[in-house]
Amino acid sequence: MKIDIASLFPAVCESYLSASIIGRARTAGVVEVNCHNIRDYAENKHRSVDDKPYGGGTGMIIQAQPVYSCICGIIEGQQEKSPPPRLIYMSPQGKTLTQELVKELAKEPWLVILCGHYEGIDCRVLEELAFEEISVGDYVVTGGELPALILTDSLVRLQEGVLPDSSAYTEESHWDGLLEHPLYTRPEVWRGRKVPETLLSGHHAEINKWRAEESLNATAKKRPDMYNFHK
Ligand code: SAM
Repeated sequence: MKIDIASLFPAVCESYLSASIIGRARTAGVVEVNCHNIRDYAENKHRSVDDKPYGGGTGMIIQAQPVYSCICGIIEGQQEKSPPPRLIYMSPQGKTLTQELVKELAKEPWLVILCGHYEGIDCRVLEELAFEEISVGDYVVTGGELPALILTDSLVRLQEGVLPDSSAYTEESHWDGLLEHPLYTRPEVWRGRKVPETLLSGHHAEINKWRAEESLNATAKKRPDMYNFHK
């Protein structure tokens, strides 16, 4: 899978994407993730990319031209190699990201993810290039970089060869509409709290049964909305 992220702050994205599991997957060539600076595509001598909103109001709006040139620059020359990318604008007005949407997007060979900043982006370039909008939740953050990283991380970990095997992501919360069972590691007793006997028994059928029950219990307690839907 290939992901291109267009942002005014690519270093923010690059820093996170160079570390840990995602960094190793990129180094190993399991996924290709590139970060692009929208400012590199500004056509004025001061390389400014934003301006005041028509109609007045606070904040600045990212202009259509540098965004358009950046996205076209990313896509240009790649058409022969691959089908066109799915274009995603991270936006609090978009469809909310869920594990189901992550599963669907993870099958795409190529995504281009656009990050807004300040008050947002001139809507004409979003319409012109037919971006779909995805939100990380019903709240607003200052820029699209963290939302883009959340989306990228959730997609990269599902690619083959990134995690040790598929159970590392299928046995997680939200994969099948439930939350994961509680987790324990050494020591066996910590501040008087014991690891459940079943987990120490070595009896795999019993352990699986315990985990399935505790997964249901955790969901009923912490997310009754999910539990009622699952029933
Ligand atoms: N004026 C916009 C509005 O009211 O819909 C909010 C702009 S926000 C301050 C700046 C940028 O952060 C947005 O262009 C978007 O890229 C990103 N952003 C903020 N909240 C987000 C969310 N919940 N999901 C995805 N992106 C978000």
